[in-house]
Amino acid sequence: MKVFKFGGASIEDAEAIKNVGDILQSYKDENILIVVSAMGKTTNALEVVLEAYTSQNGKAFEYYEALKAKHIETLKQLFPEHHEIYAIVNDAFVEIEWVIEEPPQDDYDYLYDQIVSVGELVSSRIVAAYLNMLDLKTVWLDARDVIRTNNTYRDGKVDWEVTNQNGSEILPPLLKENNFVLTQGFIGGTSENFTTTLGREGSDYSAAIFSYILNASNMTIWKDVPGILTGDPRLFDHVSKIDRLSYKEAIEMTYYGAKVIHPKTIKPIQNKSIPLYVKSFKNPEGEGTIISNESEVSYPPVVVVETDQILLHISTRDFSFVAEHHLGYLFRLFDKYRIKVNMMQNKAISFSVCVTNQAKRLKKLIAELEEDFNVRTDEGLELLTIRHYKPEVLNSLLEGKIILFEERIQETIQVVVKDIPVMRRKDW
Ligand code: ADP
Ligand code: ASP
Ligand code: MG
Repeated sequence: MKVFKFGGASIEDAEAIKNVGDILQSYKDENILIVVSAMGKTTNALEVVLEAYTSQNGKAFEYYEALKAKHIETLKQLFPEHHEIYAIVNDAFVEIEWVIEEPPQDDYDYLYDQIVSVGELVSSRIVAAYLNMLDLKTVWLDARDVIRTNNTYRDGKVDWEVTNQNGSEILPPLLKENNFVLTQGFIGGTSENFTTTLGREGSDYSAAIFSYILNASNMTIWKDVPGILTGDPRLFDHVSKIDRLSYKEAIEMTYYGAKVIHPKTIKPIQNKSIPLYVKSFKNPEGEGTIISNESEVSYPPVVVVETDQILLHISTRDFSFVAEHHLGYLFRLFDKYRIKVNMMQNKAISFSVCVTNQAKRLKKLIAELEEDFNVRTDEGLELLTIRHYKPEVLNSLLEGKIILFEERIQETIQVVVKDIPVMRRKDW
C-alpha cells in the first residue's frame, strides 16, 4: 500500500493531468492512496477572490468567474461534452458563490478555509474522473471525513485519535474495492463539519497523515524537480540533487524554510519509518531523492533563502533588563498571533526577532507590543541559512549584502541580510 502526492504543478492543466494518468498507468494493479493539491496556482487565485470579497471591492465575482472558466476550459480538453464531471465541478464551485453573495460577517480565517478549500475539492474531482475514464479504478474520497482537526482555521491541528479511527473505518473497504483512492491535500474537517485548512503547502502533510494512518510501505511526492536539491533552482543555477537524506536532515532543511516539502511532513513518516521519495513527474523513471532512516551521511552545503523577512527590535521603555517574565510574555504573544520566530537575539534592554512579514498578523502583534515596549522594525530583509556550510559558499552569498544578524550553531549558519544600497554620488 503506497501513498502518492501530486502537487499543483503536476496537475496545472489538461496536459499535466494526462501526464499524471500516464504515470499511474504503470501502477494500475497496485493499491495507492493519492493526494492532490489544487491545480496550478489556484490557491493563490482563491486568496485573491477572498481578499476582494472581504474588502468588498466589487471584484470578487469577476475573479471567481475567471477561475471557474479556467477549470471548465481544462475539463473541455479532458472530457466529452456530456460527461457528469461538468455538473460535479459546478456543484463544488457553487459553495463559493453562496459565501460571496452575502456580506462578510464571519471571521477572516474561517472564511479563508471555506473559500480556499474549494481548489482541492475541484481538482480531486477532476483527476478522479479522468483516471476512471482511463479505466483506472478510482474512488473519490472527501478528506474531511478522515482528517479531523480543531477549529484553528488556516492552521488546523490534527486530532490524531479521531483521524486514525476514521481512517481505519473508512479506508480499508475503499482500498479493497478500488485500485486508487483519490483525495484532497491541504484540508480537514472539524467535529461540527466545518472545513479547515492545514496551512499553505499543506498537501505534503496530508499525504504524510494518510501514510501514517495506513502504515504505508512508502510515500512519493511528485514534483517538478528531480528530487531535493542543494538550493532552490528558481534562485540558483548550480544546484545538485541529493540522492539520500536522513529524516533528521530533511526536518532540519524544512524547518529552516526549504520550500520543497512542508515542514510538518517528516514527523508522521519518521515515526513509522516510512520511506519518502521525492520524484519528478517530468521524469518518473528518475531515482529522485529518498528520505529514510539512513544513518548520517556527509552532505554538501545546502542553502535555504527566506525572503520578505522583518526584524522586530523590542526594547523596554525604562531601561530595565529584558527578563524571563518579559520573554515568557513575548512568546505568548507570538503564539497568540501565530508568528513563527525564525531567529532571535537577547540583549540587556532589548530583544530582537526575525519573522516572516505577514502584514495582517504583525500589525496586530506590534499594536499589542507597543502597549508595553518600544518597537522598531527593519523591513525588506532576507534570511539565509546554510547547512554544512563552507566559508566560500557563505562569502559568495554575501556579495553585495550587509549582515544585520548572524548565528552559527554547529554546522548551520544563519544570517539576516539586506542589499547594500547603491549610493548615488554627487556630480562634480
Ligand atoms: P508542489 O507542486 O508539490 O506544490 P512546490 O512548488 O511546493 O511543489 O515545490 C516544488 C518547488 O520547490 C520546486 O519547483 C522548486 O522551485 C522549489 N524548491 C525550493 N527549494 C528546493 C530544494 N532545496 N530542492 C528542490 N526544490 C526546491
Ligand atoms: N493548494 C495548497 C497551496 O497551494 C496546498 C498545497 O498545494 O500543498 O498552498
Ligand atoms: Mg506546494
